[in-house]
This record gives sequence, structure tokens and C-alpha cells, in this order.
Amino acid sequence: MIAEHFESASTSTTHRFNVVAALAIALLAILFVAYSVFDRRAILANGWESAGQIAEHTSLVAEGTLDTTRQLLRSMAFLVRPTTLREPANPALVRSALLKLKEQTEHVMDLLVIDDKGAIQHWTGSGQPPDIRDRSYFTYHGERTTSGLYVGEPTLSKVHANKWFFALSEAIRDDQGRLRFVLVAIVDVALFHERLSVQFKLSSNSQALLADDGTVYARNPDHARYVGKKVSRPRELASLTAGHRVATIVSTSQLDQTERLLSFHHLDHYPLVAVGTIVVSDLLGDWKQRAIMLAGLWLLLAAAIVWLARRANSISRAQSELANLDDLTGLRNRRSILNTASILDRSEAHTGSLSLLMIDIDHFKSINDRFGHQVGDDMLRLVSGVLRTQVRTTDIVGRYGGEEFLVLMPDTGPEGALLVAEKVRRAVADKVIQPVPVTISIGVATTSENDVTLDRTLSRADAALYAAKEAGRNRVHVASP
Ligand code: GH3
Ligand code: MG
Ligand code: MG
Repeated sequence: MIAEHFESASTSTTHRFNVVAALAIALLAILFVAYSVFDRRAILANGWESAGQIAEHTSLVAEGTLDTTRQLLRSMAFLVRPTTLREPANPALVRSALLKLKEQTEHVMDLLVIDDKGAIQHWTGSGQPPDIRDRSYFTYHGERTTSGLYVGEPTLSKVHANKWFFALSEAIRDDQGRLRFVLVAIVDVALFHERLSVQFKLSSNSQALLADDGTVYARNPDHARYVGKKVSRPRELASLTAGHRVATIVSTSQLDQTERLLSFHHLDHYPLVAVGTIVVSDLLGDWKQRAIMLAGLWLLLAAAIVWLARRANSISRAQSELANLDDLTGLRNRRSILNTASILDRSEAHTGSLSLLMIDIDHFKSINDRFGHQVGDDMLRLVSGVLRTQVRTTDIVGRYGGEEFLVLMPDTGPEGALLVAEKVRRAVADKVIQPVPVTISIGVATTSENDVTLDRTLSRADAALYAAKEAGRNRVHVASP
């Protein structure tokens, strides 16, 4: 407790250093965390952009390719439209026209003109035409009365081995709405896929073209594995409408438990949606490394700040300790001992009485005069050494004035104080500084209820010291309460 009092002068400075250090460390943490958060946001924004660009590119190319194919169907319509068929069409002429159209369009494998019964009337293939009555590109129009465009699912070809195709078909009806012809363009999925493929900026990008129900038309990478299969359709796809054709989501795949950013672009005129994706963990790999490095840097800086604060603390403590010490004797100086005395006097922790020893070296002036100040100083040091060793560890010694000392004895009554004072007096009297004997006189006072202030107790100790001098010196006098 007493040591704490001794340090009380420096604790406020110490406290200030600790607060500054804690603030600096917290500020650094906030800065680093904020940087990481913004860094992560920027990287994710990049990822969104890259996924969005892929989806946009895929949708634009798919839309363009399908538009070209639709143009082809329109051209075919001119060949077989009822008005032009007043005279029966010449099969050889129609076939050569179809072949020309097909040649102009690389991704188209075959063109078919089917009659209302499902028989192929004209086509670009050779030999016996296959039976296609069960194919959806025909049945679709049989079930309807309008001439809508039909986009078929990827299907394995009956004519070309191992080839995936999908059909684009449109119906031609007469004035009564009866089905006359179905015009079909068979699109080569492999070539279509090739057209859509983009160079990925990041290795974890992927792209796909799906039907609204999740059927895969094209995908990169692993096209062969996915084509024609149905993948689980993210719920967000349902929210895509004519007026709202773009959506972005973060989704964790149930297949590989991988988190991806997905960007959907619905095609304008076809029931298809282009998807661009990127794997979040790949995107954030570098960011994680940076974040770990920042955390390490923060720890290092925090350690340096703590070290600096500790050093500043110990320097300031040493400085304030020095400011409390007397140069000559190393004891506490007058200010420090009085400060401690008043703290002890007020302290709740110290419940018993506080005793003071007011000590003065006898005939010190004449020692100075006869032997010089050097000897006087030696004597001061000698006495302070004796005081330091003779008092109890709980007692506190200070230099009160020139050759006067003050000893504070917490929780000590007059009897105890007298015992210590006698011990100290005897110990000093045993010492000799050649050829001068050293003696001290001591006034003892104990705080009492009559003492309104500490000053009162101090002056009673002073009076007791004066009485000891009067009584012949080298003695102890206890002040009456
Ligand atoms: P008494 O027995 O009545 O106390 O006589 P005294 O001579 O000790 O009394 P007084 O208080 O008159 O003398 C104190 C002297 O101590 C005066 C001063 O010259 C001397 N003194 C004060 N401080 C120092 C110091 O730091 N070093 C030395 N050498 N002398 C000091
Ligand atoms: Mg004196
Ligand atoms: Mg004296």
C-alpha cells in the first residue's frame, strides 16, 4: 500500500501512456479491419463484374445465333407459303434452295419442311427421311393453334451419330388456323457451344446456357458432361421477367459444397438464360493471404506499441521517483514524505494510529564549523543509513530539513514508537565519525482525536524534539496527546 502511495505521483502518467497505447492499438485494428472489409468488397465486386460479363456475352451471342436461325425459318417460309404453292412446289428446286440456306449458316445441321401429318416433305438430308412424328419440334405445333416459335431441348440425333442438336421450329397455318407446315432448323449443339465459349479471366469462372427449366444447352468447362442434363434451377431464375432480365446471387452448390457468385442474363426473345459464375474462395484466396499478413503486421505493431508504452512508463516512473528523492541521502525528500504522511493520515486502509518520529542531529552546526561541510555531509549519510536499517519495513523515512529527519510509523501507538525511537537513537550513538561522536534527539508524537490536522501532530512532534534538546540531547521525548 505504501509503495503504491510512493508511486502515486507517477501513476497518472503511466495511466496516460497505457491509454494512448491501447487507443493506438485499437485504431490500428479498426484501420486494418476497415481496409480488409473494403478490399474484400472490391474483390467481390470484381467477381460480380467478371461473372456478369460472361453471362452478358453468352446471352448476346446466343441471342444473335438464334436470331440468324430464325431468319432462316423466315426464308424457308417463302419457299412453302400457301400463296406460293398454288402450283405444287418443285421438290428439286426446294431442296436446292434449302441446301443453299443451310450452307450459309454454319451452325445449322439440317433444315426440314414437315407437313401437317408429320411427314418430311423437303429436307437437306439424303436418303429416306426419318420418322419424326414423335419429335417435340413437330408435336408442339400440333397441340397449338398459333404459329409460335419453338425451341427444343438438346437431343441426340437420329441421323448423325453421337451428335447433339436442338431444334428451332415454327408453324405455317392457313387462314382458318389449320396447320399446313412445320419449318425446322436443326442446330448443331457442338458448334453453337463453340460460338458461345469465352476466354475466362479467372480459372474458376464458368458459363452456361440453360432453358428456363434448367436443361443445359452449353456449358464451360465440362460441356460434354452437362449437355442435355437438367441442373437444379436456382429459385432466383423464377424472378427473371421480361422487364427484369438480370439477376445476381451467391449460391452454395449442393454437388460440391462450393460457394459461387452467379449472374443470370435472360435472353430477350427465347426461353433461355445465360449464366456466368465464379468460385468465391478462388476470388478471395489472395485477399485471405493479405488479411492474414495484415493481422500479423497488427500483432507486430501492437507488440511494439506495448513495448514502447512500457519503456515510457518505466522512464516516467524512474523520473518521478528521482523527483521524490533527496540527492544527498537517497531518502525521500520533504515534499514526498509529507505527501505520504498526509495520505496515510487520511487513508481508510490504515485504521490504527500513525506515529511520527521527528529526528534532529545534535550540535550539527558546530560539527560543520569545526570539521567542514564534507564531514557534515558524511554524517548526514551515516545517520540516514542507520535510520533506514533500524526502522521496520512498514515505516517510512525521509529527510525533513537540513539535519532533520521524519519517520512515519503507520498502525503504531506511542509505546511502539518509543521503542523504535530508542533503538534508533542507540544505534546512532554507537557510531563515530572520527573523531566526532554522533548523537540525535527524537521527538515522538502519535495522531490523536485532538489533532484536527496532520500539521498539529507534526508540531507536537517538533515540540517533543525541542523538549528532548532542552533536556540535554541524545534522548527521546514523547509528546503528550
Ligand atoms: P542542535 O543540537 O540544537 O540541533 O544544534 P545544531 O547545531 O544541530 O542546530 P542548528 O539547527 O542551528 O544547525 C543546523 C545546521 O545544519 C545549520 C546548517 O549549516 C547545517 N546544515 C543544513 N543542511 C546541511 C547539509 O546539507 N550539509 C551540511 N554539511 N550541513 C547542513
Ligand atoms: Mg536543526
Ligand atoms: Mg541540530
